Amino acid sequence: MKVALKSLGCRLNEAELEHWASGFQADGHQLTTTTDNADLVVVNTCAVTCEAAKKSRQLIRRSQRRNAKAKLVVSGCYSSLQPGEIKQLPGIDLVIDNSDKDRLVDIVKQRLAAEAMPVTATEPDETALFSRGRNRAFIKVQDGCRHKCTFCIVTLARGAERSRTIREIVDEINSLHSRQIREAVLTGVHIGGYGRDLGTDLTALIKTVLDETDIPRLRLGSLEPWNIGGSFHELFDNPRFMPHLHLPMQSGSDSVLRRMGRRCKRVHFVKLAEQLRQHVPDLNITTDIIAGFPGETPEEWRQTLDFCREIGFPHIHIFPYSARAGTRAALLPGQLPPGIKKLRCKELHHLATQMKHDYMRRYPGRNFKVLVENDTEELNGKQVRFGYSPNYLRTTIRVSGASPRPNSIVTAHVREYDEGSGTLVAEAGFSGAPGRPGTRLYPSQGFSACR
Ligand code: SF4
Repeated sequence: MKVALKSLGCRLNEAELEHWASGFQADGHQLTTTTDNADLVVVNTCAVTCEAAKKSRQLIRRSQRRNAKAKLVVSGCYSSLQPGEIKQLPGIDLVIDNSDKDRLVDIVKQRLAAEAMPVTATEPDETALFSRGRNRAFIKVQDGCRHKCTFCIVTLARGAERSRTIREIVDEINSLHSRQIREAVLTGVHIGGYGRDLGTDLTALIKTVLDETDIPRLRLGSLEPWNIGGSFHELFDNPRFMPHLHLPMQSGSDSVLRRMGRRCKRVHFVKLAEQLRQHVPDLNITTDIIAGFPGETPEEWRQTLDFCREIGFPHIHIFPYSARAGTRAALLPGQLPPGIKKLRCKELHHLATQMKHDYMRRYPGRNFKVLVENDTEELNGKQVRFGYSPNYLRTTIRVSGASPRPNSIVTAHVREYDEGSGTLVAEAGFSGAPGRPGTRLYPSQGFSACR
């Protein structure tokens, strides 16, 4: 059977998709990237905003239209929160609640009586990730969240916190690495809460993964800023732990943060960013900001813009506030009209673009390792390979001579920053002197550290 897996939303949805992909492959099914030739289509939906819910409905309808003969299975936050709406969509064979999604492959087998293809029909040496055209593995380490941020629908959809054991996670990463995966991203709804139910924590998990696997690159998914403390920054002393942290702040105004039910104040974030950057100078700190939260005054919005400027984020995910039924924020007074939210988003986009340019302009002349992605893309009329620096800067690789192999880790020498595409343009295989003195990435680990 050919199985197409589709996902919307967060990295956790992506991690779950990969888990299912491995499960279907282990059962002898074949993965396909297109819906058109699939026998089974599985859609992992998202409900984080109204827009995400709309896109989930569209993806389900499109999958059904493109291949009405395929069996259609739907899971994820949107289908778990809105089972009534899902039932109205045509052509769905099975809806699997979030609470059952770890067993999705088994449930599909039982309920849809899926028959395995002979093992020889599959590609045993190719991991599920490669079959789906990716070369970075998202590893789900936990699910659920104990916090109650007032805007968050995800915590309702995903339920209480539960963590996978460190052993299970280490074994999964070792298995992926033995099948040529070079980078793992630990992900979850609230990864800062990892291990609370097992008497351990995220720092212990990261240390063990670094000690007991040889995966060349390890990253973290989104991490709540209040979950960083103690000796966390020392983890970056290991060159295999990638220096990028996505710390969703949501607002730079303490009064808005209070209404959001967030557990971090502006002053704490500023101090945290300073401490982390002191220890890891090239750490890339990115964030999420919600524009137009209920009751957000022009002054509160100005505080958010000032905060973003003060930190100098190289990248900001900007969301217009979207009221989700069932959340406390949806009932707050002072819901703002769409026009104001749009204007605020635009203003922040403008600032974020400037901050990105400022940050990226520091890099020409420097060297770092890039994990080459499977796909190629067009840059100024030419097909180029691209990948990400250790601190997650998108880098296209200009090639003279042999093209870098997909999924290889190459040394890149950055020649310029292309503002139009927002990427660094580098040459692969540069073997000259390291970057300008004092500007090199990871001076303590040296130029050739394999990341
Ligand atoms: S910490 Fe994150 S997942 Fe948990 S309630 Fe807040 S926004 Fe939602």
